[in-house]
Amino acid sequence: MRAAVFKGLGQGLSVEDVPRPEPGPGEVVIKVEACGVCGSDLHATDEGVFLQEPGTILGHEFAGEVVDSRHGDVAIGDRVTVVPVNPCGKCRECREGYTMLCAQNRITGLSGQAVPGAYAEYVKAPARYVVPLPDGVDYEEGAMVEPLAVGLHAVGKAGIAIGDRVLVIGAGPIGLSVAAFARMAGAGAVVVSERAPARLSAAREFGATAVIDAAATADVGAAFAEIAGGPPDVIFDCVGVPGMIRSCVDMSRARGTIVVVGVCMKEDTQVPLSAILKELKIQYVLGYQEQDFARVLAVLRSGRLKPAPMVTDRVALEALPEAFERLRQPGSQIKLMILPNAPEG
Ligand SMILES: [Zn+2]
Ligand SMILES: [Zn+2]
Repeated sequence: MRAAVFKGLGQGLSVEDVPRPEPGPGEVVIKVEACGVCGSDLHATDEGVFLQEPGTILGHEFAGEVVDSRHGDVAIGDRVTVVPVNPCGKCRECREGYTMLCAQNRITGLSGQAVPGAYAEYVKAPARYVVPLPDGVDYEEGAMVEPLAVGLHAVGKAGIAIGDRVLVIGAGPIGLSVAAFARMAGAGAVVVSERAPARLSAAREFGATAVIDAAATADVGAAFAEIAGGPPDVIFDCVGVPGMIRSCVDMSRARGTIVVVGVCMKEDTQVPLSAILKELKIQYVLGYQEQDFARVLAVLRSGRLKPAPMVTDRVALEALPEAFERLRQPGSQIKLMILPNAPEG
């Protein structure tokens, strides 16, 4: 089969022939119809703790059709997405549904050559983590379930009360899904702050009641208070750069909640006293729980959330290496979708 293989630091991806995966006991093979490119995939090919070994096939946001199954619960022809986890299944985190926090967990497509991802025509997955797509949810929407689940999980951890003023910083796929679910959770104001114009206009389609152009606003906290009628009750950091948590602390109301969704991999400083004086709650989040996938699918099925506007570009596998490198420069992209089995042309 064809797959986009990571060649190593600074070498990018290369589309090559590799053996098609064979299912072991309890596993299925899926013909990949759509796979999203995630910010983590860019981190995975760049210097830092997420760097993958050469030979890795990335891709953890995918949906497709089951073509081979060695488990009775999943049939050939099923339309599915997958919770991309490979945990131990026995530890406390696994037993309580937090497979993403299992110390043994390997994320499909982000764990070297051990569990290849879906930048490929076919991908293998444990049947246990396969989730069927309801009628009316297409493959691209199926591939969006994973990033949407990140947003849903973050909103669930925030404890939003009806009428709350919410500030979402960053309008990438995660920030947009946070905004959409915060609105559904009953927030009164959902204000999205972002620097990229294309993402700002998308925010209005995903639950934002107002937007702040962060590139043109000196004091985002003051702008928020003016728009929303007071400081935020809940702030979501969906950017993850040094200094961001500190500025969230400064903007929050006393007893507010800050949810840290964006992944900052650099050292960051803050003065704890500023947060103490407001008795703030700072909640870190990682990924999702399995059941978040079913919740996202229920929302998609209801038609209350249409993720299509997040998909700003689609590429065939052969065009992926070049499109992937282009994502390293900030642009107007939100989500790049790979269609590995789309008919030519
Ligand atoms: Zn992702
Ligand atoms: Zn475990």
